Amino acid sequence: MTLSYEDLLKKAYTDITEPTEAEERFVVPTARTFIEGKTTVLENFAEIANTLRRDQDHLMKHLLGELGTAGKIEGTRAVFSGKFEREQINAIIHSYVDDYVICSECGKPDTRLVKTDRVLTLRCDACGGHRPVRKRRATVDPSAAAKPTEGAIMDVTPQFLSKRGDGVVKIGRYTMYVANAKPGQTVKVRITRIAGTIVFTERVD
Ligand SMILES: [Zn+2]
Repeated sequence: MTLSYEDLLKKAYTDITEPTEAEERFVVPTARTFIEGKTTVLENFAEIANTLRRDQDHLMKHLLGELGTAGKIEGTRAVFSGKFEREQINAIIHSYVDDYVICSECGKPDTRLVKTDRVLTLRCDACGGHRPVRKRRATVDPSAAAKPTEGAIMDVTPQFLSKRGDGVVKIGRYTMYVANAKPGQTVKVRITRIAGTIVFTERVD
């Protein structure tokens, strides 16, 4: 018997979410922030960089770029000029994790940033996968892009293939699976279901 695509996706989702190995769960610390005068203090900045195992300067540069402000690292805290919402800082940290920490092949955080020939590459110690680090476009509003809705029809372009050969599209913190679509190929899909951050689709072209 043949499993339907929906069944395969359910299986994929189960495989993803069930802890199959006795490994520490990777939890991105929630930003603890407060406003101090005309600045925003990210209290647990060093803890976040440590958990992500990323260079503090690299993370700081990303935060400053996304917030569009100036700031500095002060001990274990980061201080930004201007008043920012905690949610905004959390969203930026999560986009940083997606772009610079999580392996797009196996979804694990056991990765390193390696610079070769001026190209920044994310290398995964868990599966051996590697990919060039995506350059984020400043015009993309991560909060708007990060909300797929069920029933929506959209054109998508898979960025890579899952182990099972489905096209995978990362939309903010969501992962969308598209049947029979190759990376770089634009296809029309309808979102049939959203389970957590996993987005199920059907082809409508
Ligand atoms: Zn990997």
